[in-house]
Amino acid sequence: MEDSHHAKRPVLVAGGGIGGLAAALALTRRGIDVTVLEQASEIGEIGAGMQLGPNAFHALDALGVGDLARAHAVHTDCMVMHDAIDAYEVGRIPTGEVFRARFGQPYAVIHRADVHGALLEGVRATGRINFLTSVRAVRVIEESDGVAVVDADERIHRGAALIGADGVKSMVRDQYVGDPARVTGHVVYRAVVDRAEFPADLQWNAASIWVGPNCHLVHYPLRGGEQYNVVVTFHSRQQEVWGVTDGSREEVQSYFEGICPQARQLIDLPRSWRRWATADRDPIARWSYGRVTLLGDAAHPTTQYLAQGACMALEDAVTLGEALRVSGDKIESAFDLYQRSRVARTARIVLSAREMGRIYHASGVERLVRNDLWRGRSPERFYDALEWLYGWNAGNCLSGSGYA
Ligand SMILES: Cc1cc2nc3c(=O)[nH]c(=O)nc-3n(C[C@H](O)[C@H](O)[C@H](O)COP(=O)(O)OP(=O)(O)OC[C@H]3O[C@@H](n4cnc5c(N)ncnc54)[C@H](O)[C@@H]3O)c2cc1C
Repeated sequence: MEDSHHAKRPVLVAGGGIGGLAAALALTRRGIDVTVLEQASEIGEIGAGMQLGPNAFHALDALGVGDLARAHAVHTDCMVMHDAIDAYEVGRIPTGEVFRARFGQPYAVIHRADVHGALLEGVRATGRINFLTSVRAVRVIEESDGVAVVDADERIHRGAALIGADGVKSMVRDQYVGDPARVTGHVVYRAVVDRAEFPADLQWNAASIWVGPNCHLVHYPLRGGEQYNVVVTFHSRQQEVWGVTDGSREEVQSYFEGICPQARQLIDLPRSWRRWATADRDPIARWSYGRVTLLGDAAHPTTQYLAQGACMALEDAVTLGEALRVSGDKIESAFDLYQRSRVARTARIVLSAREMGRIYHASGVERLVRNDLWRGRSPERFYDALEWLYGWNAGNCLSGSGYA
């Protein structure tokens, strides 16, 4: 018979990113102590923006920090896609009042640090969190009544269980799954630009994308429109190695041939760029192993084309908390239920994001097909098509598991 007793031992969370903090919050709200092991010397987030769908705000509300996050977010009026060659408007989805009423939450854009900060504030308020920074987890050892994590300095951290929220290059996943990454060859440049330097003719209250052959450009406002997030993606000419480096202005300017001037001006704006050579992994059916489980990018790393990676990490955390609740805090049963509730949904994100990348980057006749796909489509038809994604909430999060 599995024991739910873990009051004296914390649950370990490897990774203090959005996924790790959300998981920590879900657990501490259930009265479980948590120790976060973070390799960086400080708990924090990179300087970039992100899009959050209604599903993410439902998750943030369930974690008790929705108001904090919404206070920093810009609620957009629409999502809009233009062809980057001729500026043709391919599609527009209004995200105003009708959208918010349909999904019960906004579609919003926000600085990553503001999401992370809201989670951090929530987790600190529970008084059940212990942050250990400069701790790089390197090995997991299963013990008879818990889990031990060995760090890079050979120190041992013991807990009742382990959640591997250690991101796209997860050590925990490597040890338990060991599957290869799929380096896409797609390179992303990201920067944040002050409003004064951002072109007036692009200062739209929208999540905006310009799609071109083998490339696309994204921009949206942050922090009340004081800043703009700029993200450009292209298919690299060289063999890429998965990772993040400083970007080069010359490199990014060498792509985007034939792009219309209104879109192309985006790549001349930033003073400095960060460069991501991206990867995902094929979806897997199992990521819970007894008292060890995976969460966020460690469990289902995805390309960014649906803007849902962090949203999924937030959903994971809420689902984990709900699974613990209905399992009477029995960890192994809860980890199993959590996994069953999440695998198909997150796999759909990974596979749909790959397909979306193909649609964005279409050329030749595929481009013409892409530009016809949504012609004349009403907002309601878009909303119906998005119901599977944005209709998620804490009340239905276990319904994919066969539990409900
Ligand atoms: C270009 C781009 C744009 C994106 N845009 C969006 C968007 O608009 N909306 C959205 O929802 N998502 C977006 N995403 C995805 C989103 O960034 C990720 O899905 C999200 O950050 C995952 O959070 P995580 O906590 O699982 O992983 P991470 O944020 O990677 O956090 C992992 C943490 O674990 C730590 N760590 C790693 N290894 C170890 C170790 N061995 N020991 C201890 N600590 C360790 C790391 O230092 C880090 O703090 C985007 C991604 C990219 C690349």
